Amino acid sequence: MAPKDTSRQSAVARLIQIVGAEHVLTEESDRAFFAHDVYRMKATPLAVVRTGSVDELCRAVTAATSEGIAIVPRGGGASYTDGYAAATDQSILIDTTRLNRIEINETDMYVTAECGVTWAELDAALAAKGLRTPFWGPFSGLKATIGGAMSQGSVSFGSGLFGISADSVLGMDIVLADGSLLRTGSAAAINGTPFFRHYGPDLSALFTGDAGALGIKARITLRLMKRNPIVMSASYGFADFYGMARALETVAKEGVNSESFGLNPLLQKAWLGRTNLKQSLDAALAVFKNSRNPIEGLMKLTRMAIAGKSFLDRAEYSAHFIVEGIDNAHARSLLAAVRTAADPHGVEVPNTIPTVVRGMPFMPLFPILGPAGERWVPLHGIMPFSQVDTFHRLLMEQQSRYADRMAANKITHAAMFTTISTHAFLYEPVFYWQDSRHIYHNRYLPEDFLKTVPVYAENPRGRELVEEMREDIRNIFQSIGAVHMQVGKCYPYMKGRDATNAGILKQIKQILDESNLMNPGSLEL
Ligand SMILES: Cc1cc2nc3c(=O)[nH]c(=O)nc-3n(C[C@H](O)[C@H](O)[C@H](O)COP(=O)(O)OP(=O)(O)OC[C@H]3O[C@@H](n4cnc5c(N)ncnc54)[C@H](O)[C@@H]3O)c2cc1C
Repeated sequence: MAPKDTSRQSAVARLIQIVGAEHVLTEESDRAFFAHDVYRMKATPLAVVRTGSVDELCRAVTAATSEGIAIVPRGGGASYTDGYAAATDQSILIDTTRLNRIEINETDMYVTAECGVTWAELDAALAAKGLRTPFWGPFSGLKATIGGAMSQGSVSFGSGLFGISADSVLGMDIVLADGSLLRTGSAAAINGTPFFRHYGPDLSALFTGDAGALGIKARITLRLMKRNPIVMSASYGFADFYGMARALETVAKEGVNSESFGLNPLLQKAWLGRTNLKQSLDAALAVFKNSRNPIEGLMKLTRMAIAGKSFLDRAEYSAHFIVEGIDNAHARSLLAAVRTAADPHGVEVPNTIPTVVRGMPFMPLFPILGPAGERWVPLHGIMPFSQVDTFHRLLMEQQSRYADRMAANKITHAAMFTTISTHAFLYEPVFYWQDSRHIYHNRYLPEDFLKTVPVYAENPRGRELVEEMREDIRNIFQSIGAVHMQVGKCYPYMKGRDATNAGILKQIKQILDESNLMNPGSLEL
């Protein structure tokens, strides 16, 4: 039953009392913007509330749910799987970005971050002390938050050795639907601190990847380690997908690379071609600053300049491997292991792409538009190595089936790949299509950047076809047993799940959120 007008008014009035009127946004344009992810939006929430402390967060949740109003948490808003797209307009969206405190405990080697801290902010705070977390962020870490990554699962920096975001967690403080605070890990024990995760059954795991359907992460504690100062990388070109996939697989199994990623021809050109003069200068400056001394910086820049942008012209696919050592000899020996594994499958090329990536790991969100200003949406599946070739074949067959309709509707596709630890392959098909920009693009991207990219007319048929193909690809993923991070309201989660598993999950949801007010619709719960 929908909450009454009086309930809605009373909830908004209480929220204003809790956080102050300046932190409750009720303008239509603000509500629409915050509810719009990189791809699309669903319902417009009643208000956006920007809580400034964990206590305010608990009270805000109670104020809404006690009136029967749903809660939708949003971190940096850098996702595209409807995770914070409100399923109902009877919702309050919580923007967590004011929850940005960081406490570093060097003695016990953990850091506790409030959920709205971005990965770039956390990395900067830890770098000052020569520390890092094992997984240290997605490419979108300038905007993406610790809370967002923990709630949907993220990969990239550190994932080659240390897995996904959830693998670095020690414990969390979670606000439940009734406004109470649940503590997980060793911090939940009498006199406990959050220094250890596994003390009996692990409650943290229930909430990692929950898309906010079970609670709102308020604070997250992650394990710390020393930063390895020496970063080296190698890049390879391949004649086809299969060479690239084998190289990524064999290198991953060595367990030596901090990160690796593969690009198909279109994405590779996009990564090289996207860099305009200002971005190239920024990247060059970042590469220079991150070098240990000016001579090394100059050498790296010279290699990049000589390589230019044409070195991958002859390669169909490319893969890029990054290692980190405690000293030069250590890093060199790790890179030697990468080369031994990759050499049989491709040809080594200049390492411009990984050098720029590590020079400026957290990039501005320019890729939310395609290289020629098109709309952009990726999707992904994580699969065992044994299924990679089958998936690729099925995807290529799908793309031939759709080729004529894609061309007619101005749609192109690309793909990106990575490995996670020694045991998983992530395949990310990407769609671009010519279509008008939406509110998210116009608010997130700087005006001087938007002026440089073409503007397209509305293309509703293109949009529909992309959606049809995404659904088809989700089914192909399911047919080979792939799994997903970033489940949100996009990937199947309950569909096809075995009955015992599904039953237990439903009961857990019922215990934690009996009125289904925590981000309803997520995880198909
Ligand atoms: C250019 C670009 C590059 C990207 N690169 C990567 C990459 O390298 N690796 C990768 O994995 N992904 C990547 N992404 C996808 C996405 O940015 C990340 O997965 C990121 O972790 C999302 O974090 P966020 O704070 O923006 O979350 P949001 O988009 O704000 O939210 C994501 C989900 O988490 C929920 N949520 C947010 N905060 C909380 C909280 N405190 N408690 C409970 N639930 C919460 C939301 O309701 C939603 O369901 C990229 C996206 C873009 C646009």
